[in-house]
Amino acid sequence: MAWRCSGSSNKELVSLLAQAKLITQPTVENAMLIVDRGKYSRFQPYEDAPQTIGYGATISAPHMHASALEALSPYLFPGAKVLDIGSGSGYLTVCMAEMVGPKGHVVGVDHIPELVELAKKNTAKDHAEFLETGRVAFHAADGRVGFSDEAPYDCIHVGAAAASMHKELVGQLKAPGRMFIPVGRGEQAIYVVDKDKDGHVTQKKVMNVLYVPLTDASAQRGFLA
Ligand code: SAH
Repeated sequence: MAWRCSGSSNKELVSLLAQAKLITQPTVENAMLIVDRGKYSRFQPYEDAPQTIGYGATISAPHMHASALEALSPYLFPGAKVLDIGSGSGYLTVCMAEMVGPKGHVVGVDHIPELVELAKKNTAKDHAEFLETGRVAFHAADGRVGFSDEAPYDCIHVGAAAASMHKELVGQLKAPGRMFIPVGRGEQAIYVVDKDKDGHVTQKKVMNVLYVPLTDASAQRGFLA
């Protein structure tokens, strides 16, 4: 996949992801065209691979961002409230903010304060108004317990692999609501968790992946050193 979707510009990358049918929704394509990955990754931003952003973290590969936005797209409607756990570079948080529009609200949480600052700095390059109006807010916090201050959410994206399915996160979903979460140590897989309008929860394993772990800040910094 990696060799197929790498581009020399944001536009080319998005068009290759669409040709490979990794992007099918016009709302996803539009957001990924508007949000230039080059503003969020210092290294090879248009290559279809994760890149380091420091502090033991990476900006995820474009095809994973596309898959997450595609899976969550029915819940990224205008006015939706969204939680992005492990917001890292801020790229996906801002893509989701494009999709939910001016009445929507996206909360990005990362446990490394320096990465929260990086996400704000990256966002300010092309989308300063998102920070000014509060359409996007970044917080330094442990995302393993979600972010109860603003719960419940129409959808939750988790950008780091959880050791297990976290009950707190499922609890912070609206009914209906959807979560996209990598789970596992060693072997990891993406699960799409749906809560229906009556609060009934189902989960579906959609693909095997390799993500940075959802962990303690000290463990992540140690991994860095
Ligand atoms: N979606 C981000 C992914 C960054 S990598 C992007 O594409 O840029 C995963 C992120 O999860 C890292 O930034 C890491 O700091 C963060 N993370 C790991 N454990 C966490 C925790 N317990 N709480 C909050 N964030 C965490």
